Amino acid sequence: MLTDPPGLPADSHVHSQWSYDTFGHTSMVAECERALEVGVPAVAFTEHLDFADYGPGDAIAETGIKPGWWDAMRPLDVTGYLASIEECRQRFPSLRILSGVEAGEPHLFAGSVAAVLAAGPFDRVLGSLHALAWEGRQVNSSSLFRILEPMDVMRRYLAEVTALVEGSGAFEILAHLDYPRRHWPASAGPYPESGLEEEYRAVLRALASSGRVLEINTYSPLVSATLLRWWRDEGGTAVSFGSDAHVAWRIADKFRQAMQIAGAAGFGPGRDPFDFWRC
Ligand SMILES: [Zn+2]
Ligand SMILES: [Zn+2]
Repeated sequence: MLTDPPGLPADSHVHSQWSYDTFGHTSMVAECERALEVGVPAVAFTEHLDFADYGPGDAIAETGIKPGWWDAMRPLDVTGYLASIEECRQRFPSLRILSGVEAGEPHLFAGSVAAVLAAGPFDRVLGSLHALAWEGRQVNSSSLFRILEPMDVMRRYLAEVTALVEGSGAFEILAHLDYPRRHWPASAGPYPESGLEEEYRAVLRALASSGRVLEINTYSPLVSATLLRWWRDEGGTAVSFGSDAHVAWRIADKFRQAMQIAGAAGFGPGRDPFDFWRC
């Protein structure tokens, strides 16, 4: 007997014009239109929350590490952003529109993150790591491939993600857990996921023990079913789908493939079409 394939899940990781790194290439309206066109039931606009300087309550202040790994970084205009969310909710009543942020290095910027989160209702809070410390300052983790052995970069990165998960309770979903993998050097051969099993498991264990959600990021190379089984082994029970779109056409990009992988690892639709997938 044939059963209908499950409908697309929510896209829980989208950037609009309110993220400093979309550079005028997109808008929340265009992304909502695209979401309706492809048939996702919900989108979360998780705008970047990155800090070029530290404020009260930020652990990075004590480390002596200089923040600001990208000079494009700009603060989030919370008022303007929330007004856009309201406008889009009025304009697209059949689409569920969630507010949110992607908090970068939230373990180092707890005070600054908390101050923004207190300034408005945010439905989805992602935690992510883009930067690592190098020679006294934060640098884009991927840039370390030019300096260090590729495996060394990934080991440092995954260790820092574990520290991030253990050091911040501000977020619900861990975004792109192996971000520098996007820039894994071709000269280093195929990405050695199994060689990093222990490092991945440490991240997943910390995330599961705090009852949080793992993102399947479809901008990164797609996660393997093996990695999602490690997630289950370590106690993980939910996955979120995130396109990490910075342009409208990428909303829900590669979601069908991602759903198949999640299904192969034993995850399926949750309570309703807006829910995470669960096992
Ligand atoms: Zn990110
Ligand atoms: Zn993102």
